[in-house]
Amino acid sequence: MNPFYQRAQFILGAAALSQCPPDCGHEVAFAGRSNVGKSSALNALTHQRSLARVSKTPGRTQQINFFALDQDRRLVDLPGYGFANVPVSVKRQWGELLEHYFSRRDSLRGVVVLMDIRHPMTDLDEKMLAWCAQAKLPVHILLTKADKLTRNHAQQAMQQVQKLLAERMADWSEHKAWNLESVTMSLFSALKQQGITEIQTQLDVWLQAPGRP
Ligand code: GDP
Repeated sequence: MNPFYQRAQFILGAAALSQCPPDCGHEVAFAGRSNVGKSSALNALTHQRSLARVSKTPGRTQQINFFALDQDRRLVDLPGYGFANVPVSVKRQWGELLEHYFSRRDSLRGVVVLMDIRHPMTDLDEKMLAWCAQAKLPVHILLTKADKLTRNHAQQAMQQVQKLLAERMADWSEHKAWNLESVTMSLFSALKQQGITEIQTQLDVWLQAPGRP
């Protein structure tokens, strides 16, 4: 158990860039389709039962929710995407908020993009990766619900995503300095508590976590 991540505490939810906490220190954002397992992953990696419950509270689901680890470091839960039956105006608002956040937030050090291992790289996931490329932000893809596949099939799914990424890279190559090395990946299961150390190790690097060797 990593006590650093266990300290995470909700600070605030922002519906506009102006409502975000001061843009200093380091933060890492978590993005993914609704139902991908983002709340479960945040709870697992912070060793808390219901940290991310706040992000499911009506009124907060379309907000950027900030969690403090210490004075200089934060985890950020971005609104889940891909809801059915969401009005176009809300989708547009969501897009603008995220695009502004990605391009203008200096303290943002990296983005964890969660994808269900059974349905990775949807159109919206690719859009998210394109924004990261544009903002030259490093990405860690977390393939969630890995317990739903056998170990072999999970490995194959990861290789498949790697292959797709390599193919798509050409579309993003205009964003120089964002390439396959900007993207890391690991398997994750909140249910089996699998992959927690791997994601924490990546967060340590991005957040320059204290105590990192
Ligand atoms: P969110 O909408 O992205 O925050 O997703 P949740 O964390 O609320 O999870 C959505 C659904 O997926 C819930 O029914 C969870 O129980 C389930 N789920 C989340 N993580 C896992 C996992 O690691 N394995 C399995 N099998 N189910 C999971």
